[in-house]
Amino acid sequence: MGYQFITADSVPHALELLERYGRDARVICGGTDLMVRLHLKRLPECVFINIRNLEELRYIREEDGMVCIGAGTTLSTLENSLLLLGKAPALFQAAQVFADPNVRHSATVGGNIGNASPSADSAPPLLAFDGQVVVARKDGRRLLPIREFFTGVGRTALEPGELVTEVRFKPNPDSAFVKVGLRNAMAISVVNIAASVDLAQDGTMKDVRIAVGAVAPTPVRAVCAENCLRGRRPEEAVIRQAMDAIQTDIKPITDVRASERYRRIVAENMMRRVVLKACRICENEGGAGR
Ligand SMILES: Cc1cc2nc3c(=O)[nH]c(=O)nc-3n(C[C@H](O)[C@H](O)[C@H](O)COP(=O)(O)OP(=O)(O)OC[C@H]3O[C@@H](n4cnc5c(N)ncnc54)[C@H](O)[C@@H]3O)c2cc1C
Repeated sequence: MGYQFITADSVPHALELLERYGRDARVICGGTDLMVRLHLKRLPECVFINIRNLEELRYIREEDGMVCIGAGTTLSTLENSLLLLGKAPALFQAAQVFADPNVRHSATVGGNIGNASPSADSAPPLLAFDGQVVVARKDGRRLLPIREFFTGVGRTALEPGELVTEVRFKPNPDSAFVKVGLRNAMAISVVNIAASVDLAQDGTMKDVRIAVGAVAPTPVRAVCAENCLRGRRPEEAVIRQAMDAIQTDIKPITDVRASERYRRIVAENMMRRVVLKACRICENEGGAGR
């Protein structure tokens, strides 16, 4: 079959092509993951369905209190969004430390979650916001909670014929993102983490959601750590308990970027930092957006 490349001229056209080519079809948007795999000869022959030119998939807007982001929106659009800066700093900060300006100019939100890398930088913020993925197919669309979207390394809950058209979430200004890579620029995350906190008047955390990447086959919610923090003040002793608890939430491996032990130590320290940052108790936090 070789490789074929077809450019869709609308979302309905893309869905028709996806249905026609079924398992042989592969959506391509920014190409920053797929072109690397093609170059390394790690991509089976397929029909690329190119959605890069679809303006209808490029937007960030607010609808009924939800932030809605089209799947074709680039990371550079995210890092320049005043809406995200004000209402969803965790995602804004993730976009700012993503790759470099060239890659951010092409890389898209749909491609970042569609690639389903455990270290995808947009995943922890979307999980911490308890976001949803809008999935379209020729005969309709469905809403999928982001926590059900990732099913394994490089695997998603998408069926053949389906396209991500949007991610949406209820934003929270009390949210933050922290990433550790092997260097400051162009680094794939060794661990990345986001927190979204609902603070009560008395300073207790009414609710808290923490999501962490590169420490398991998929990005995960740190439910045990969240349970330690919920209903309590972000005081040192409380955070120390959550730092212990996050060890139960994660299952890191040793790979070319870091050892399991290093990831465990980094994850608990980053959890401390990201929770304080989300609560606006920033300890020498040089992170973007705050
Ligand atoms: C030098 C370099 C640095 C990088 N640094 C980072 C980094 O710091 N952080 C990070 O998270 N990633 C990083 N990446 C990875 C990559 O840039 C991102 O994953 C990017 O968001 C992918 O988006 P894309 O549009 O280019 O995806 P593509 O390459 O076009 O597609 C990626 C996957 O998603 C699927 N897909 C794309 N769009 C959709 C859709 N709408 N619906 C369903 N499936 C879809 C494709 O079929 C494919 O499987 C880096 C890559 C490079 C080359």
